[in-house]
Amino acid sequence: CGIVGYIGYQDAKEILLKGLEKLEYRGYDSAGIALLNEAGTHVFKEKGRIAALRNEVDPQVTATMGIGHTRWATHGVPSRRNAHPHQSGNGRFTIVHNGVIENFQEIKRDYLQDVYFSSDTDTEVIVQLVEKFSDNGIPVEEAFRKSLTVLKGSYAITLMDVKDRETIYVGKNKSPLLIGVGGNFHVIASDAMAALQLTNQFVELMDEEMVIVQSHSKTIKNLSGAQIEREPFTVKLDA
Ligand code: GLU
Repeated sequence: CGIVGYIGYQDAKEILLKGLEKLEYRGYDSAGIALLNEAGTHVFKEKGRIAALRNEVDPQVTATMGIGHTRWATHGVPSRRNAHPHQSGNGRFTIVHNGVIENFQEIKRDYLQDVYFSSDTDTEVIVQLVEKFSDNGIPVEEAFRKSLTVLKGSYAITLMDVKDRETIYVGKNKSPLLIGVGGNFHVIASDAMAALQLTNQFVELMDEEMVIVQSHSKTIKNLSGAQIEREPFTVKLDA
């Protein structure tokens, strides 16, 4: 239902939780965040309110990058197990996703027969697919791009790789997603509301685009790998 991501220099934990609270008005049945720091990926998720998630989050964990999600279940009952973020089998990749992957059964059958699934969501096939392709020796950016080309349906995705503390991978098709631009950070949001406390400069993403987001740079590409240039727009708030 809602997505927030952050990569920069501030405490991502508070930014993600505040951002998710701004998205609460849209409705959701569960929520979660993943924080990536030198010790690894830390996933916290809970069924129910953001307040319940806040209780779950370890205040000791600090990180300057992370991804967050409010879920409105489409595949798999509302539960902690089905709440996002989801991780690949080896724990390397962590994802949140808005939308519906219409061909998730076909993807399981065609690519992921040998994979153990730890949720009932359509979403989990995406992160397992990225792991599968990258295990076959494909670089992560290419594994992510290739995974997106296999998906049918709608998605706004953010993905982190535990081996890369400089990059958040973003994908978008038929679900809204914006990249908020700051001086030395980027914030990713399904709705500008979730990021307006940090910036009013946003780059809009079009369907079938991906972005390699780092603190000081963002590279937008189409699913053929061609680079796309796009200027940010300013979100003006009525006084
Ligand atoms: N289809 C996904 C799920 O059921 C994502 C739902 C959403 O957009 O929140 O987990």
